[in-house]
Amino acid sequence: MKEETDQIKRCTRCILPASLNQLSFDEDGICNHCRKYENDFKNWDLIKNRKKEEFEKILEKAKNLKRPYDVLVPLSGGKDSTYALYLCTKIYKLKTLAVTLDNGFLTQPAKDNIRNALDSCNADHIFYTINRRNASELFKTFTGRTGDFCNACMRSINYSIELAIKSFNIPLVIKGSGRRVQYVSQIKEVSSLNTSSYFANVIRGTDVESKFVYLSANKNKLEFQKIVGGICDIFGIRRTSLMRFIPQHIGMYDYLYLPFNEIVDILKREMKWSDASGSVEHLDCHLHDIPFYKDTLRIPDITKYTFHSSGLIRQGLMIREQALEKEEAELSKKDPPAELLNFLKENDIGYEDYVKAVTSSDKSKFEPRIQKIARNVYHRFRRY
Ligand SMILES: [Zn+2]
Repeated sequence: MKEETDQIKRCTRCILPASLNQLSFDEDGICNHCRKYENDFKNWDLIKNRKKEEFEKILEKAKNLKRPYDVLVPLSGGKDSTYALYLCTKIYKLKTLAVTLDNGFLTQPAKDNIRNALDSCNADHIFYTINRRNASELFKTFTGRTGDFCNACMRSINYSIELAIKSFNIPLVIKGSGRRVQYVSQIKEVSSLNTSSYFANVIRGTDVESKFVYLSANKNKLEFQKIVGGICDIFGIRRTSLMRFIPQHIGMYDYLYLPFNEIVDILKREMKWSDASGSVEHLDCHLHDIPFYKDTLRIPDITKYTFHSSGLIRQGLMIREQALEKEEAELSKKDPPAELLNFLKENDIGYEDYVKAVTSSDKSKFEPRIQKIARNVYHRFRRY
C-alpha cells in the first residue's frame, strides 16, 4: 500500500492531491489554496486588533437596536458554536437566543453539551426537531437525486434560524464559522450552493415536495438579502449600516481567531463542554462521516481526512508528516463507515444504488445558474 500512496502527487505544503480538478501548483509545488490562505492571513497579527474592534462595533450596534434579543447563535453542541455562545453571553453580555436544529440524528454527546452550555450561561434556547422519519424521507430523496443529503439538513438549519429571526426581530446572527476554518467550501468539487432555490429545485416534482416545500419559503426575499450583503462586502460598505433592515450573519472566526486547542480548554472550563468520543470535530451528527466518505467515491486519492488535515496544516496546527501518516492508514481501509450502512438499511437503499447515485448524479443541474455566477463573483472580489 505504501508504494501506491507514495506515488500520489500532492501539494508540498498541505496534502491536497493533484486529482482535484481545480487545483494548481506553483513552482514550489504549493497549491492555490495554500497560497490563498497565506495571502489572506499572513498579516493577521497586524489587523487582528482592528478586526476585534469591528466585531465589537457590530455587537454594539445590535445592542443599540433594543430588540427582544441582540443576537442569535445557531448551536449544534460542537466546539465552534458553543464558543460563539460563550462569547456572546459570558464575554459580551448580549441578550442571546440559541437555536438548535435536531435533524433526528443529533448525538447524545451533542445534546449533553447543549444542556451543559445552557446551564453555564443565560441564553434562551429553541430546539426545533424534525422527526427522524421525516428527515429520512427527505434525505432519501436528496440522496437519490444529488447523491448528497447534507444540503437538505443545511436548509433545515437555516430555516430554523430564519424562523427565530422573524419571530423575535433579531438583528444579528453569530455563527461558529469563518473563512479561516472552512476546510471544504473553497473547494468547488466538494461544495455546492446551499440556497433555498437549490433546495426547492431538488424536491420539485418528488413525493416529498408538498411535505417540505415550506423549508424554501421566502426564497426570493432571502436571496435578495444575500445579494445586498454581498454587494456591500465587495464595495467595502459596513454591514452594520444594513442591520436595522436586514439581519446580518457573521462568522465569528473572521473577526476573532484562536487555535482550536485553546478554544477547547476554555469551553471545558467555562461551558462544561466535553469532546466525548475523543474527537473534537463534528461530534454533533450521527451521519457526520457520510459526506466525507461520499467524496472518496467520486474523487481519487482523497480520504475523509484530506481536506480537514490540509486546513489544520495551513493553520499551523498539524504537521504534514502526521497528516500523511493518517492519510496512508485511511487509504488502506476499504470498508464504508458503519453509520452509512445503518442509514442505508434504515432507508431501504442498497449500497450499490447509493454508490451509483453518488458517482453519477449531477448536482449542478439543480443550482440556479445566476446564483452560481453571483457566488463566483463574490468569492473573487470580496474584501477581507
Ligand atoms: Zn496546499
